[in-house]
Amino acid sequence: MIMQQENESIVNKKVVLLGDSSVGKTSLIRRYVQDVFDDAYIMTIGSKVSRKEMKILKEGEETKVNLMIWDVLGREGYSSLHSRTFAGVHGAILVSDITRHETLGTLERYWTPLLFKVVDYIPLVFVCNKTDLTDKAAYDPKEMYDIASKYTAGFSDELPPDYATNYQTSAKTGKNVNKAFESLSHMMLSKKIPMDPIKELYESLIAMGVYRQSDKTTLIGALDAILVDFCEGFDDDRLAMSLIRQETVRAGIDVRQPSKDGLLKVVEYFAEVEAEYLDETKVNENRKRRMLWAKDTKE
Ligand code: GDP
Ligand code: MG
Repeated sequence: MIMQQENESIVNKKVVLLGDSSVGKTSLIRRYVQDVFDDAYIMTIGSKVSRKEMKILKEGEETKVNLMIWDVLGREGYSSLHSRTFAGVHGAILVSDITRHETLGTLERYWTPLLFKVVDYIPLVFVCNKTDLTDKAAYDPKEMYDIASKYTAGFSDELPPDYATNYQTSAKTGKNVNKAFESLSHMMLSKKIPMDPIKELYESLIAMGVYRQSDKTTLIGALDAILVDFCEGFDDDRLAMSLIRQETVRAGIDVRQPSKDGLLKVVEYFAEVEAEYLDETKVNENRKRRMLWAKDTKE
């Protein structure tokens, strides 16, 4: 008989990094997973998934945590695609950029309400990144601290004394990057159910009305609809996201400002992909529906 060691357990956790374009989400993931930093800006569309195994010591017991880290497309507006990515998320890191004050506001105005429309109350860690750029700081990190304490109250008291729910990070120097991920893992392993005040906050967020479906008459809204429509044909979201990434790059789409021409191209490319596993009628149906969305945009 094979005895399993009592303290040997492994848990899988899906984590997302959320925040505006260019705040440093991809860089933080790269720093954490590969311990490198690169100044080149790589535009990501769709969501890339990285894996990292780590160990958490909690109440004398060691747990192996297998983190699946989703790098989410960093711009508001793609709310259908974002909602889809949030399914089954266990924890999130909300990233702002210390050099741009508005990136902190977007976390409360867009990302947290949208996240909580899809998932139950889950632990969050707030970080302000790029704190190596000390002379360019545009806000006091205390502002982030206040937001973090509001959103993490149900979980923060579960943390060991040297961990927090908010950090000043730098993907460039590596400062506090591991700490942020470890802290989130600690909270994700907690079995505690959130308290009532948190539920109220969470219901008020939902009432704020960030819509899961975006306005299809804008270029971003139409692209969002096309991307999600393409995803529907897959059981495996990771595969769908990787194809989305590939085909949008091929179509030369700038996610911050997609052009109509880019949308039309991506519709054609998706049809090429789908021709490999769908029958012709279905491929044409999909193509036609998506073409209409692309053509009906008002911009
Ligand atoms: P994302 O759009 O949120 O994924 O942002 P990226 O990770 O692509 O980073 C955007 C830009 O900011 C890139 O040029 C990065 O090199 C830079 N960057 C990211 N993190 C830091 C940081 O901690 N310090 C500094 N100085 N630059 C950073
Ligand atoms: Mg990125």
